Amino acid sequence: MEIHEYKAHELHSLLKKGEISSVEITKAFLKRIDTIDPTINSFLNITHEAALSQAKEADNRIKNKNAGPLTGVPYALKDVVVTKDITTTCGSKMLYNFKPPYNATVYNHLKKAGMVMLGKTNMDEFAMGSSNENSAFCTCKNPWDIERIPGGSSGGSAAAVAAELAPVSFGSDTGGSIRQPASHCGVIGMKPTYGRVSRYGLIAFASSLDQIGPFAKSIKDIAELLNIISGHDQCDSTSVQIEIPDYTKALNKGIKGIKIGVPHQYFTEGIDPDVEKAIKKTLITAEGLGAEIIDIDLPYTEYSVAVYYIIAPAEASSNLARYDGVKYGYRFKETSQLLDMYKKTRLNGFGSEVKRRILIGTFALSAGYYDAYFKKASQIRTLIINDFKNAFKNVDVIMTPVAPTAAFKFGFAKDPLKMYLSDIFTLPASLAGIPGMSLPCGFDSNNMPIGLQILGSYFNEETILTVANALEKTIKLNYKKPSK
Ligand code: GLN
Repeated sequence: MEIHEYKAHELHSLLKKGEISSVEITKAFLKRIDTIDPTINSFLNITHEAALSQAKEADNRIKNKNAGPLTGVPYALKDVVVTKDITTTCGSKMLYNFKPPYNATVYNHLKKAGMVMLGKTNMDEFAMGSSNENSAFCTCKNPWDIERIPGGSSGGSAAAVAAELAPVSFGSDTGGSIRQPASHCGVIGMKPTYGRVSRYGLIAFASSLDQIGPFAKSIKDIAELLNIISGHDQCDSTSVQIEIPDYTKALNKGIKGIKIGVPHQYFTEGIDPDVEKAIKKTLITAEGLGAEIIDIDLPYTEYSVAVYYIIAPAEASSNLARYDGVKYGYRFKETSQLLDMYKKTRLNGFGSEVKRRILIGTFALSAGYYDAYFKKASQIRTLIINDFKNAFKNVDVIMTPVAPTAAFKFGFAKDPLKMYLSDIFTLPASLAGIPGMSLPCGFDSNNMPIGLQILGSYFNEETILTVANALEKTIKLNYKKPSK
């Protein structure tokens, strides 16, 4: 087996046994990135030097018997998470030269755990998109077929793990940006409950929705990564002060008697028959393992696209007001007029999708329209939340497809509305703030991966992990490898 083929926890046991050093592992991944990534574009910034110095530190810790469960294991980080003195662009020309003066809490946790950052990954500008086509720098490709999108907005992080350029990675999920690219790239991706992981240093898109989470090739790795990044942070008042369980313990349980809710609203017109078949087959597998399948009703699902595409742009229009050319990144300099500088900075610095969201958001929040749009959307959001609360009175997890189709070809969803509609299955959980995972469960007729979405109740990541772990063992997830 080659180094890049191992899962994160397997790499760590090799490290612990002294069979390999973190420097050797890190060099192997960096070499693989340098060779393969020019065709995938999953990285925006490969941090060779910082990676090797972190790897040396990790080796010392392992030698001094001061290592945690993933010390010395490399990872890739979405370029939406700020890293001190390391360029953090958020996929935008607006921040093309931004070297943050501080670290995000998640990055500090990873450093403390002794993990090794290989670089910052490609993404849709300001995390707005479902295909990575909105990156201001280059388009990330799907390693299973480079004519297809990797999904978005964390496409770079998902593609990096799928192409085995990193054993694990991190992304952010506002409306599906971890689960959907994980599904399209055939890897596991998990969005924790809103408030489980600190957002301090996560460049804000829509603050009531944004959440950081991991990508990996095994559930055990996901559990270990959640152990590292979870927890209250005094720098983020929305992070919640409740005990963090040891997530790896969830993997010791079976799923006999577990109740799985299946909402018929997620199997509607527009869903690809291959996707439906793969999901239904996995439900049968779960039943075979002793789970009980229960039909449930999530009647407000159909409003989630409309609600999300008012709330997220509204919050974005406010969050993105800070990019005025004064404090961060790009500034239009060829003018002596302040107002002109603001205008041209924003005109040139933002791409068209970001501008579209700022326009929609500003409109939805403006006097006279606030009640009709933002307020109404917020009220319906409460109904969507209640849908889930009611459902979780009777079931332990909910299973649905992640997306209506597998990864589509570049240019397929040029019409923004078509792109927005493809988020239909991930948005409800984001609006409710509940945790969700994408677990690879099959392939479509083009040989592209299909993901099963497993949703849990608030702060019940453990049950999702238990169920996913049982399925992972039975359906043998990584039975096919991407061609690139
Ligand atoms: N595709 C959604 C959007 O464009 C979700 C993005 C995300 O989760 N960051 O808003």
